[in-house]
Amino acid sequence: MAAVESTLIVGGGTVGCALATLLAAGGVEVEIAEIRQDWTVHGSGITLQGNALRVLRQVGVWPRVRELGFPFDGMGIRSHTGELLADLTDQRTGGPDLPATVGMSRPRLATVLSEAAVQAGAVVRLGTTVETLRRDESGVDVTFDDGTARRYDLVVGADGIRSHVRSLLGIDVVPQPTGLSIWRVQARRPPGLERTDICYDGPCHIAGYCPTGEETLYAYLVERSQDRTRMPRAEQLQTVRRLASGYHGFWDEIRDDLTDPSVLNHTAFEHLLVPPPWNRGRVVLVGDAAHACPPTLAQGAAMGLEDAAVLAELLLGSDRVAESLWAAFTERRFARVRAVVDGSLQIVRWLLGDDTDADVPGLTGRVAELVSEPA
Ligand SMILES: Cc1cc2nc3c(=O)[nH]c(=O)nc-3n(C[C@H](O)[C@H](O)[C@H](O)COP(=O)(O)OP(=O)(O)OC[C@H]3O[C@@H](n4cnc5c(N)ncnc54)[C@H](O)[C@@H]3O)c2cc1C
Repeated sequence: MAAVESTLIVGGGTVGCALATLLAAGGVEVEIAEIRQDWTVHGSGITLQGNALRVLRQVGVWPRVRELGFPFDGMGIRSHTGELLADLTDQRTGGPDLPATVGMSRPRLATVLSEAAVQAGAVVRLGTTVETLRRDESGVDVTFDDGTARRYDLVVGADGIRSHVRSLLGIDVVPQPTGLSIWRVQARRPPGLERTDICYDGPCHIAGYCPTGEETLYAYLVERSQDRTRMPRAEQLQTVRRLASGYHGFWDEIRDDLTDPSVLNHTAFEHLLVPPPWNRGRVVLVGDAAHACPPTLAQGAAMGLEDAAVLAELLLGSDRVAESLWAAFTERRFARVRAVVDGSLQIVRWLLGDDTDADVPGLTGRVAELVSEPA
């Protein structure tokens, strides 16, 4: 028997759905409370590295991810002119039988994971969140904003970087700005573009793209943070086209395709790391609710997926929720996540300082070594 019979997961994003699938498949009664009434995810793409793919395989969705995403094994470093400066072979951090990377559309990944959770038996309450949590030795009494109430053996806060569960626990760690922000766009994949290429010169701190399917890619431009929220859509498009005009090679085709302002997304890079432990009694935080990093190593979702896999393994492999379970969770997660958050922030500092001694490939290689070890 597992350590818990019933679990409430607050937040039906990448991490919440992965955890829900693993627990429900292991015989736990799982409910997901997702605040959005419409569960559809919008947005561009995501870079899933091997260690994320390893968890997605455990969750049972790897065949769908392989079918709907775009796998590749290398990465190019290019100058803003399009010239190839370095041809890097990425480490297969999920093991030799998984590609180093899959680029995927975020809406597609969200659909695959939410369908998996429902198929595994998780019950989803859309348009709902928790109002109060009262913990005791053996469970958690929860009231919801729709007036209902229930007791669970465990509550998981998987409700993202601005976690409401984190606030309800009285943990006053909040996201911090890093000084950089990113424009992300979806575009058509030009023939021949078959992996990520990154530029560290030109008008932006980073310009890159990642194929997400046979027909699609997402491209990104990272700039010093400024408030773009009030900028009219048409002006946003002009800004992105102007920044993109500093890049050539495949960028010439990508830029020509940027005509629809609705495909633009502007997001600040933020970070957050809740000190251990991530639980208060039988309420625990996972994913961005517990830790978030700027995507300079493309490891944010990967770390959250690993949280889900480790927590599910511990809960399904124990017969009670003891302090030793939480100690094991901290032991297996905290140092690894901190190394990724610190590494991601180091790259931001290098970029903001325009540091010519920065060793991004060296740091990326060290993190790849670390995350190649199973979590
Ligand atoms: C610009 C950018 C690029 C990134 N690129 C990559 C990348 O290439 N590769 C990578 O691995 N990672 C990347 N990341 C990180 C990745 O997106 C996150 O780590 C990941 O989405 C976190 O998943 P999550 O499930 O913890 O949180 P989320 O995906 O934020 O999901 C949280 C869910 O909780 C719901 N919710 C929120 N509040 C409540 C509430 N009060 N009650 C109930 N439900 C609630 C939300 O609606 C949502 O469905 C990137 C992040 C950013 C910002």
